[in-house]
Amino acid sequence: TKFKKGLAKTRNSFATKVNDLVARYRTVDEDFFEELEEILISADVGVNTVMHLIDELKMEVKRRNIKDTREVREVISEKLVDIYYGNDDEEIEEITFNQDGLTVLLFVGVNGVGKTTTIGKMAHRLKQQGKNVVMAAGDTFRAGAIEQLEVWGDRVGVPVIRHSEGSDPAAVIYDGIQSAKSKGADVLLCDTAGRLQNKVNLMNELSKVKRVIEREIPGAPHESLLVLDATTGQNALSQAKTFSEATNVSGIVLTKLDGTAKGGIVMAIRNELDIPVKFVGLGEKVTDLQSFDAHAFVYGLFA
Ligand code: GDP
Repeated sequence: TKFKKGLAKTRNSFATKVNDLVARYRTVDEDFFEELEEILISADVGVNTVMHLIDELKMEVKRRNIKDTREVREVISEKLVDIYYGNDDEEIEEITFNQDGLTVLLFVGVNGVGKTTTIGKMAHRLKQQGKNVVMAAGDTFRAGAIEQLEVWGDRVGVPVIRHSEGSDPAAVIYDGIQSAKSKGADVLLCDTAGRLQNKVNLMNELSKVKRVIEREIPGAPHESLLVLDATTGQNALSQAKTFSEATNVSGIVLTKLDGTAKGGIVMAIRNELDIPVKFVGLGEKVTDLQSFDAHAFVYGLFA
């Protein structure tokens, strides 16, 4: 599957443990479920989600009268996918594009999570899809953030609208919109600052940026994507809570999945916050951004 390479660490840890468990317990019993529970929790699937999954598994085992643990292993994947999608029958649209005019995508998240890298990768991805892209360097706070975005701009051949460090992010985004409009661009990618130390200022700044975008383009931003670092585990979950309380988050980009054995965090985010994971980062290269798909993800864990 498409996640084969990026999920190697999680697969090696998770699938190995599950396979070993299945080999040790031939028949299903209470101890088997207890050990399975521990394995899932250690993969950061999240306690609530694990409880839910174990209950579902037990019911399914009873309903189908399953005795062999190898059969349970098959059911784990099925149930993980079911739980991920919950009551949403439809597949989640990865990006909602503006049908008549400029699409604005806003990226938010704490410093260091991979926000700039993700914007660069996204610019490349959209360009490959034939879209005309502009980026706006709205992180005027972090030293080097503007230059870093410019490096990505050069690399992927996308213009970057910038002001000097310390200037008003809302003004940068405003200029980004005007520039994108005058170029007849399809998509504007907006970077923002990510200092969580000063939460009130950060959130005020985000609201101001959003107000400018909404005023200039009714219906925008079309996506507010929260970037989270998978290697930070439960910390990522608490960041997601903070941001989603302060601003409307339409989807999550989970970066550095290649760097963790705890890829189960995807499940926890989805179930504890009910925000879809739309993209995942599977490496540092420009092509290492994949749209997320729970089926490919879960089956990638056992492939
Ligand atoms: P920002 O502060 O949120 O803008 O973070 P950066 O974009 O500067 O990224 C921080 C570090 O994480 C950089 O060294 C990136 O190369 C690295 N990084 C970003 N995304 C990924 C990913 O999906 N996988 C890996 N392995 N590294 C990543």
